Amino acid sequence: MGELTNDIQFLPGVGPKRAALIKRELGVNTLEELIRFYPYRYIDRSSITPIVSVTPDLAYVQVQGRVVSRNLINMKHLSIIVEDGTGRMEMVFFKGVKWNFDRLAPGSVWLFFGKPQLFNGRINIVHPEVDAPQTDPAAKGTLTGVYPSTEKLKNGGITGKLMCKMERAALALCLPEVQESLPDYILKKYGLPSLVLALQNIHFPSDMSALAAATRRLKFEELFYLQLSLLKQKYVRSRAANGLVMPHVGPAFHACYNALPYSLTGAQQRVIKEIRADLSGGSQMNRLLQGDVGSGKTMVAVLSCLIAIGNGYQACIMAPTEVLAQQHFANIQKYLAPTGVQCALLTGSTTRKERKPLMAGLADGSIQLVVGTHALIEEPVRYRALGLAVIDEQHRFGVSQRAALWSKGPLMRYDQRSGAWAPVSDSERPAIPPGGAPGGRTIEDQNVPPHVLVMTATPIPRTLAMTFYGDLDLSVIDEMPPGRKPVQTMLIGQNRLPAMYRFMREEISKGRQVFVVYPMIFINEKMEDVSNVEQGYEDIVKAFPLDEGYKVAIVHGQQSNEQKLFNMKAFVEGRAHILVSTTVIEVGVDVPNASVMVIRSAQRFGLSQLHQLRGRVGRGAEKSYCILVKDPKTGKDAQERLELMCATEDGFEIAEKDMKMRGPGDLEGTQQSGMPIELHIASLLRDGAMLDEARSCAMKVLDADPGLDRPQNSVLLKELRKGKYDIKDYSKIS
Ligand code: ADP
Ligand code: MG
Repeated sequence: MGELTNDIQFLPGVGPKRAALIKRELGVNTLEELIRFYPYRYIDRSSITPIVSVTPDLAYVQVQGRVVSRNLINMKHLSIIVEDGTGRMEMVFFKGVKWNFDRLAPGSVWLFFGKPQLFNGRINIVHPEVDAPQTDPAAKGTLTGVYPSTEKLKNGGITGKLMCKMERAALALCLPEVQESLPDYILKKYGLPSLVLALQNIHFPSDMSALAAATRRLKFEELFYLQLSLLKQKYVRSRAANGLVMPHVGPAFHACYNALPYSLTGAQQRVIKEIRADLSGGSQMNRLLQGDVGSGKTMVAVLSCLIAIGNGYQACIMAPTEVLAQQHFANIQKYLAPTGVQCALLTGSTTRKERKPLMAGLADGSIQLVVGTHALIEEPVRYRALGLAVIDEQHRFGVSQRAALWSKGPLMRYDQRSGAWAPVSDSERPAIPPGGAPGGRTIEDQNVPPHVLVMTATPIPRTLAMTFYGDLDLSVIDEMPPGRKPVQTMLIGQNRLPAMYRFMREEISKGRQVFVVYPMIFINEKMEDVSNVEQGYEDIVKAFPLDEGYKVAIVHGQQSNEQKLFNMKAFVEGRAHILVSTTVIEVGVDVPNASVMVIRSAQRFGLSQLHQLRGRVGRGAEKSYCILVKDPKTGKDAQERLELMCATEDGFEIAEKDMKMRGPGDLEGTQQSGMPIELHIASLLRDGAMLDEARSCAMKVLDADPGLDRPQNSVLLKELRKGKYDIKDYSKIS
């Protein structure tokens, strides 16, 4: 008993030293973790391609041959010629050169696996995987698992063979103790093998079909629990049926709507309908609104707020930065003019003097809409009846932040007779001592969570959105307002900077403005953007001197808030021709008169970041340009990404391609620390269809048994409680 939690060091052939290495390199500590560490591919030892039949269009081949010569060039490049009786081919190594030189001695026989390619008219394999030759005729059709490995593991004697041996021993000890993790009825319905069978076959498949069934079962399990965990939270919320009910549209909505200088796009109308249905439906809304840069999300936010206000509630719009909050505030006030709605701005730099009447207005309800930064949900702010919170451009606003918002909801009392929640009237309202426990509240009174609308312009591939925001309902604005001109994007090297400066001068002479953006540079995790952007500023000022009438503003992360705002304003208000900055301007800033976006060291940016930046231009009537300037040492992958930017403006296409090029674990911001959830076998890139299946299965389970109280579902509750499937760190999601 208790084998599952045993340390791997006690397996035969392992011991404390190797165990420590495995723990460090693979994060595998216990036998249970070991049997949940799967091969990433399988070798069919019996399927060997004769060298004469190898062509470069084959995805992968396995050849077995004798080394005839080895040639080490500059200690950097190892070329091995292999012969198998049908022909000769070359194996090339740029890494592990010394180690491979030593072991691949002339005369020795090896099994090579890799992608054949044509190079200088000859076929070779670069960095093949090298294994001991296949000599056992009984092994025909046997699939051998290949486990993820590292250079350090190989050097430490943890060979593929040893891994197989360890897995075999661990399975023998553990399988009798492994408990089925999916209910029988789900296994039957989806035709999945048991966990024991799946684990056996994922490591030591009896044949191809057993391997396929095992893979399917383990992937399904992983995706299913991920969805179940997310959806359960959602069901708990919606079943509680304590959403604020907002049946009316109200006069403010109509007044604003009728005064709009344009008509809403079909997509905007659809999304507002979806939101209206949520607001009047009786359960709390938790909706993610995705819409590309410039698709008109602000208007949707404002109209949604006006619905809340039309039902006697307050609303807030939260922006990620002070600059954005100010800009929203200015825009929104224009829309509100015909409505008579009272609107205020609350940010970190709101003075104490301004704060006092503001707080009072929020507490007594005379301020109906408040725009601001995080200050909006921070402790001291009290609302009389916050009915809707809109969170703009903060897709990192995770479950815990959303929860912080809930306590800001209005105090409601459950009315037994009508079976509905009703606001506690002002006269009955207990005084809440600052920071203290609310006194005099009856047991039924509750803060009812406001409805929440999270808006983002960062296009997230569908499978990622379903995984990380699986507990939110999704609305998409997939249509741009009419009249937007495409942004012409070009990629240039530094040799063309003089031509670019000439072009900038032309645009400025037409009355346009120009953004010049530099990447943030991190050195030892410290932000070192300043020298870079300041040098850039010097260069620009030299090329665009003040005495010729050019005004250049600079904004970066190391400036004080006031400084940033002041400089930013100079550009927004058209007093500066050029804004030199780091990515602080990335989200949301609207300067319709800007027609050129120059991005320096563009190869350092991720695709979605580039897309966001490009979205800052093309907002006015003029033709706009995005100039990507790459550094001389730009690599091939980066070059490809930049070329993709030139080829398309579709944010979702870019996001999907980005994911394909880099793999989902490598999306921006997730690079260093991996995904916020560890997937052992399923891939958000390849297993989209299974994700749909797993999600619909989880929904059906919860529809039938929302609390997972039925005996057949007890195993589900038990697995969820292990917490393996919780998203802990939303900041890792880009
Ligand atoms: P984003 O989705 O990036 O937040 P905004 O809400 O800032 O986009 O809208 C971008 C611009 O498009 C704004 O200047 C806004 O006034 C304008 N706009 C929004 N909706 C429409 C529409 N239906 N027709 C024309 N222009 C619109
Ligand atoms: Mg916006």
